[in-house]
Amino acid sequence: PDELARAESLISITPDFPQPGILFRDIAPVLSDADALHAVTQALAAPFEHGFDLVAGVEARGFLLAGAVATATGTGLLPIRKAGKVPRPDASVDYALEYGIATIEASGDLTGRRVLLVDDVLATGGTLRAAISLVEQLGGTVAGVAVVLELAELGGRDAVPEAHAVFAA
Ligand code: 5GP
Repeated sequence: PDELARAESLISITPDFPQPGILFRDIAPVLSDADALHAVTQALAAPFEHGFDLVAGVEARGFLLAGAVATATGTGLLPIRKAGKVPRPDASVDYALEYGIATIEASGDLTGRRVLLVDDVLATGGTLRAAISLVEQLGGTVAGVAVVLELAELGGRDAVPEAHAVFAA
């Protein structure tokens, strides 16, 4: 708990990035602190221990956390990529961004696989909703959704009610 509180204090906050009006939270300082990274990695997986056998993260920051959780829990890793990076995608999902739309893709047969989805920040929840849909299109079961930080006022909880957040702001 002490280690987690210290990890939370490392998240940096930058106004007007990447655009005016956005208050951007950056978890990079948590990643570069060994104790904080360990504490956050454990806290992401703890509620789902032994309930999943694959960890999925959305490019790019989700990859970092998915890799850490997968190695810490002895599970595999599924990279979910932005459009145009997977040579032969087996599933593709379009979703709304603040401006325009985005597409995520992945390949593989996830039949019988229980997948923990992880990301750094839950904002509107659009990205995680799309990732849930993508895992299901591949035949997998979503065993859980975990984020480092939930931004409460952006309504992501309504879009992804099952999300486990290590920190909330
Ligand atoms: P969504 O609105 O779909 O929940 O969030 C869109 C994407 O932008 C997610 O991958 C989320 O992690 C990222 N995102 C939104 N707001 C922030 C922020 O303040 N900081 C960081 N690092 N990522 C953010």
